[in-house]
Amino acid sequence: MALNFIDHQDLAANSGRVLDMIDPATGEAFETIARSDASDIDAAVRAAQACRDGVWGRTSAAERSRLMMAWSQAVQAHADELALLEQRDCGKPTAQARADVAALVRYLAFYAGAADKLTGETIPYQDGYSVLTWREPHGVTGHIIPWNYPMQIFGRSVGGALAAGNVCVVKPAEDACLSLIRVAQLGRDAGLPAGCLNIVTGLGAEVGEALARHPGIQHISFTGSPRIGTLIQQVAAERHIPVTLELGGKSPQIVFNDADMDAAVPVIVNAIVQNAGQTCSAGSRLLVQREAYEPLLARLAQAFAALRCGPPQGPVDVGPLIRASQLERVHQFLAQAEADGIPTVATGQVTADAPAGGFYQAPVLLRDVPVAHRIAQEEVFGPVLSAMAFEDEDHAIELANATDFGLVAGVWTADGSRQFRMAKRVQAGQVFVNNYGAGGGVELPFGGVKSSGHGREKGFEALYAFTNLKTVAFRHG
Ligand code: ADP
Repeated sequence: MALNFIDHQDLAANSGRVLDMIDPATGEAFETIARSDASDIDAAVRAAQACRDGVWGRTSAAERSRLMMAWSQAVQAHADELALLEQRDCGKPTAQARADVAALVRYLAFYAGAADKLTGETIPYQDGYSVLTWREPHGVTGHIIPWNYPMQIFGRSVGGALAAGNVCVVKPAEDACLSLIRVAQLGRDAGLPAGCLNIVTGLGAEVGEALARHPGIQHISFTGSPRIGTLIQQVAAERHIPVTLELGGKSPQIVFNDADMDAAVPVIVNAIVQNAGQTCSAGSRLLVQREAYEPLLARLAQAFAALRCGPPQGPVDVGPLIRASQLERVHQFLAQAEADGIPTVATGQVTADAPAGGFYQAPVLLRDVPVAHRIAQEEVFGPVLSAMAFEDEDHAIELANATDFGLVAGVWTADGSRQFRMAKRVQAGQVFVNNYGAGGGVELPFGGVKSSGHGREKGFEALYAFTNLKTVAFRHG
């Protein structure tokens, strides 16, 4: 039985209730977690407040840095154990589960390194004055984490918050909590003080909402669906606290006739099948210039047909989806596409050893998808790539910007001037030119425009979101 982590203690929910954890590879329950409620959140917030008012508030930036680096090393030392937990919880293929641990190690190391380099400014003002700015932590920060990349999203969110001097209460997704509980325990072993990091598990509508509504929370980081993101922002608005929202995307890969197709093909495939397409920044729309459309689809058809989806411990390209309802959602998208006459170019294979109860969806490549169709507008969160043709740059931009989202975009062209024009005109928080995803990019500020959310995570930029700027003016004559 997995327990909450509050004030360095491993605790059952006050109610004593539990939730089953389901293995996506088999559909079978394999563990339980605490089904917490508002009273557990209250205990976590109080522990965090006491830590902020006590030891963490007095801890120097250099010491925070040292502790976080020790924590990063402890995570590294337990990489195999954590990768196995994440695999069981989320159905991630082995390479992906290991990559997620490696990213967490990097996040904690990056923010350890940044903690003592966050400085204010002095501002030239009138004669007789000295004006300076201080970056002060918000205090108790709330972190609501989704199930698709628990360790990575925890790393970018909690890493930045702690480095900037905040304390944290974390609500992992009910489908995937186990790795984060273990990571928090490793923080305790590495010397983080009691109360600076607390993990409370349970249902979003129960414990997530209780966290967002708690009057002791001074900042919320949320990654998840646009619907819940709206709710979080409304709750935060009532208390006038800042939020960072990352709400997914419908990111285009834009391929011009002159692109290096040998370089583009494997990247385009990976950008949609990585983590079974359950990635906020998945390259889920493929926009191809007319002349290159048929040849590129032919190459991608071959690649998709060869993809294997099966038990994540095996030699597969794609593991199961997270849960039955997610598989059902993907089925509904595909059924609607079929009913509306959208052609399927190729489908990968589900391996023979995939257990019948698991949530397996082979990758699917669709073509000639109308830009207004639901499957080209909404996040499927499955391994489904929607291709469409464009004529010229203006048309490409029109299609690329024709969704509510604006998280990431990929541009593939050899023309340097076009690279700049496209990067400027596409609506996105990150643009990748002749590459995509940049390997996770711990250092690279990340976040969206439009319905993809606002605020930036990752990189040094995240530290600014986790602080208030105080301007102090001294008159000394
Ligand atoms: P998904 O549909 O992909 O699971 P959600 O937006 O529902 O995405 O979930 C993302 C995170 O938000 C999870 O940790 C979930 O428990 C949490 N959550 C869900 N509903 C609420 C809510 N009403 N208030 C706060 N958090 C919530």
